[in-house]
Amino acid sequence: MRNRWQPYLFWILLAFLALGFIYPAIGVIAIICMLAPVAVAPFKGRYWCGNLCPRGSFYDHVLGRFSPQRPIPSFFRSRGLRVFMLAFIMTVFSVQMYFAWGDPAAMGMVFINLIFVTTVVGVILGFLYHQRTWCAFCPMGTLASWLSRGARPLKVAPSCVGCGLCTKACPLQLKPQDAKEAGAFTDGDCLKCDRCTAVCPKQALRFADR
Ligand code: SF4
Ligand code: SF4
Repeated sequence: MRNRWQPYLFWILLAFLALGFIYPAIGVIAIICMLAPVAVAPFKGRYWCGNLCPRGSFYDHVLGRFSPQRPIPSFFRSRGLRVFMLAFIMTVFSVQMYFAWGDPAAMGMVFINLIFVTTVVGVILGFLYHQRTWCAFCPMGTLASWLSRGARPLKVAPSCVGCGLCTKACPLQLKPQDAKEAGAFTDGDCLKCDRCTAVCPKQALRFADR
């Protein structure tokens, strides 16, 4: 089921950044948002990204009001970019953490800077393309996607008429209807957000655990 609090979680991100620049040591709590998507993935796929991530909530419910909602360019979904971003962000994070180690404020600031900069990148891409463009290649989302293949599949019934309303509703513009023949949509990037199941006029979509 969709998390009904998801539309409000962006306040956590805003409070985190506002307080973090005043009390940098609190930045270390962001480790939760780095590890949780990966920990959840083998069981529920990218459920964290679609239902519990404060930044995902910010993109959906704040940035989404201003985004032109154009198609997300395929470059941002490419394996090459995703591997590069994962390696790049992890390297930057590790080097900065090495030098900050032992100083709580400096360690917290590593998290705050990382989240601030990547959020700004996501905002720019949201204004250019679509509010969830960042989530197509977010390093933690990529790791979660790799770990989640097959987890909590979305069943596609033969009653699907291929209208594409599910793709319009999908934050990542995925295409569950393409899995009609197979009967189940198992794309590792599915955020398990339930938007497609809510809009399907044929009730052709449901998660396997329902
Ligand atoms: S909204 Fe439903 S009927 Fe339309 S393409 Fe998607 S699954 Fe098929
Ligand atoms: S396919 Fe459906 S459940 Fe998966 S991310 Fe898209 S809208 Fe959400």
